Amino acid sequence: QPVATSPLLAGLNAEQGAAVSLPPEHALILAGAGSGKTRVLTTRIAWLLQTGQVTPGGILAVTFTNKAAKEMMTRLTSMLPINARGMWIGTFHGLCNRFLRAHYKLANLPQTFQILDTQDQLSAVKRLCKQFNVDDERFPPKQIQYFISGCKEDGQRPGDVKLRDEETRKKVELYALYEAQCQREGVVDFGELMLRSYEVLRDNDAVRENYQRRFRHILIDEFQDTNRLQYAWIKMFSSPPVEGLSGPGNAVFAVGDDDQSIYAFRGARVGNMADFVREYRVQHQIKLEQNYRSVSNILDSANQLISHNSHRLGKNLRTDAGAGEPVRVFEATSDFAEAQWMVDEMKQLAREDIPKSEMAVLYRSNAQSRVVETALFNAGMPYRVYGGLRFFERAEIKHALAYLRLLENPNDDTSFMRVVNFPPRGIGARSIEQLQDVARSSGCSLNDAVSAVTGRAGVAISNFVAKIQVMREQTEGNTLREIIELVLAHSGLVEHYRNEREGQDRVENLEELVNAAESFVSIEGFGRDAVAMPVDELGQALSQSPVSQGLDPSVPAIDEPLASEEETGETLSPLVSFLTHAALESGDNQAQAGQDAVQLMTVHASKGLEFDCVFITGMEEGLFPHENSMSDRDGLEEERRLMYVAITRARKRLYLSHSQTRMLHGQTRYNLKSRFFEELPEECLKWITPKQPAWSDGAAGAGGNAGWQGGGRGGFNRGGAPAALQPAWSPGWASGSDPRGLGGKSNPEPDRGTDIKAGLKVFHNKFGEGKVLALEGAGPDARAQVSFTRHGVKWLALSVAKLTPVDD
Ligand code: ATP
Ligand code: MG
Repeated sequence: QPVATSPLLAGLNAEQGAAVSLPPEHALILAGAGSGKTRVLTTRIAWLLQTGQVTPGGILAVTFTNKAAKEMMTRLTSMLPINARGMWIGTFHGLCNRFLRAHYKLANLPQTFQILDTQDQLSAVKRLCKQFNVDDERFPPKQIQYFISGCKEDGQRPGDVKLRDEETRKKVELYALYEAQCQREGVVDFGELMLRSYEVLRDNDAVRENYQRRFRHILIDEFQDTNRLQYAWIKMFSSPPVEGLSGPGNAVFAVGDDDQSIYAFRGARVGNMADFVREYRVQHQIKLEQNYRSVSNILDSANQLISHNSHRLGKNLRTDAGAGEPVRVFEATSDFAEAQWMVDEMKQLAREDIPKSEMAVLYRSNAQSRVVETALFNAGMPYRVYGGLRFFERAEIKHALAYLRLLENPNDDTSFMRVVNFPPRGIGARSIEQLQDVARSSGCSLNDAVSAVTGRAGVAISNFVAKIQVMREQTEGNTLREIIELVLAHSGLVEHYRNEREGQDRVENLEELVNAAESFVSIEGFGRDAVAMPVDELGQALSQSPVSQGLDPSVPAIDEPLASEEETGETLSPLVSFLTHAALESGDNQAQAGQDAVQLMTVHASKGLEFDCVFITGMEEGLFPHENSMSDRDGLEEERRLMYVAITRARKRLYLSHSQTRMLHGQTRYNLKSRFFEELPEECLKWITPKQPAWSDGAAGAGGNAGWQGGGRGGFNRGGAPAALQPAWSPGWASGSDPRGLGGKSNPEPDRGTDIKAGLKVFHNKFGEGKVLALEGAGPDARAQVSFTRHGVKWLALSVAKLTPVDD
């Protein structure tokens, strides 16, 4: 037996060793986080190769991210002198791409076919809808895109979709047209990569059998997050046994954790695990119960939390690592204070020689990253954002910034091009080409060339230019906040995204831009320090960012560097300073490749990774668990699995924080702390309580934010009064003045709460109609929980929010 002697097995425990050295038959390794699933999978490949059971060409291994695939390659080549190129290791999309390049003729594609990322796909759908005059009120392109992707994930071509109703019929028609357009242009989207290669395998016996003979071992990591089509694709390489027939004889080795299934919203089917066991008659199921990643305070927290879920396959995890530090819980007065505390804590960790790359900040929603990014930026700490665009690079933010830049500079052609037809106003590519020709031949800007374009196109473009002109005049002398609000409304951006089925996140980001401006203005002197950076340097900084290096295939490439202003802040208007700040913050402080940097990412993007120190921020009801998922049990259980993933990323230190107030989506929210705190073992937690409430010196006058701008320790302990004399910490937001001067609590208006009571129907000029669910506090501190028809449940301070009772 080569098993016992292989040095590859030396460092593994008994179950891991057994899993690595299983006979060449189907197997499922079901195990919790940090138990070494990925390590076992990698070691099995090495072991199979080393024992001569397979050649590199006989391996097909699917990982979840490119990063994981790269890591696997690196580990393998360090373990064995092998030709890694012969192995098919990659993501589903990566492998399908490879397959289709090899079989482009069978797939009926040009060899040089181009891949559409999610944003490109949307643009393609939009173009199509315009061409066929689709009513985008009834059929928003985003919804069509969602429909198309959903069909493909289920393996359905237009002809396969059941035409339930008129609406589906219309969508299927568009799906067919979209397919024709892609085919004509020689492009494929992500779903098509999967579906097309699946079909080639399904329809060509010789090809399928060839691959089945070739790939003796098929290994899949994170199996719990595969969707229907991915599972069907795997089956093509490895037909499950059929009664009376011997199968192709290859072995599928699937590795997963049902507790970490977090992509149900994208069609992932945890049921694939049970199907796999049944269909493949899996004889080998191994559980790994030893966790090698985390200290027990962290692991126990994860275990206890996830025990609140039902329908689990059931696993246990233990660790020999010792208790370690307790999980630290911090309650902040505001999101700013939360970010500042985190940065201070990171500085302390750095003093303990922990590399910044071993510090990760995890958040539930992308919109949360901005405040953290700003705090890190101000502290001069390099950081890297993974799995999502950094705030100022997100498409919707770039659109908004483009409008703002045009207010300042109508000749900014990049901005002009970006938004001349966005939101769509019927200006076609032809007209824009015409405009560009005129501008080119007369050497002027697009804006100046407008009058030369005639006909209907000319009118539409002139209208756009006039719109910008009107906005410019209307915003003259306004504050930055007012300017941005007006631009968001009048450009039609907010309205446009609001009508998209999945546009809520973008609307929230746009509202977040208002917050960004607000805090920018209040940080006195910042604008003056913001020195412009030459465009090419900025471009370089951007191109070196990991986001543009394509670590995450779902992240679209950065299309152009943001323009920077030529002057220093001294003479700049607040708007220009802000735009400079946006450009700098997007390019400058993003860590250079190879630089030691704090890691920022959503919980989703953190799957499979590990760090010494992890900060999970925004642990508040409505945020984590997310408000969209709180109403039904399945949604809540998926949130809990997400939280489980988040906790189990940490090796040594885990920090959980929540904030009493948070500026999110353009609104101050008074959040209750997350229910997940109740589900963690108290003995593993250590609640960190600052000595006294923030803002106690009442310095929040003029620009607000007094505590924030000071840098260093920010808002804490600034007041002169001894800590012991301060009121209890918990209702800190109520006893101090509002950090942003928004609340006006020092001079509260007469208590409006008196005529607001639970059950009452109310109107809010931003959120519309809603119903009061509950009331808390009294006088100036009174707040109401309102369930808004269109915006979900929110807590609002009655001294700030204008709630008017409405008649039924
Ligand atoms: P996740 O569910 O988060 O993907 P996982 O089950 O894939 O986790 P790995 O990432 O493979 O776990 O392993 C977690 C950590 O434990 C890694 O740092 C790995 O190197 C280490 N590890 C795994 N097995 C052992 C072992 N037998 N001895 C020492 N360290 C181990
Ligand atoms: Mg793993």
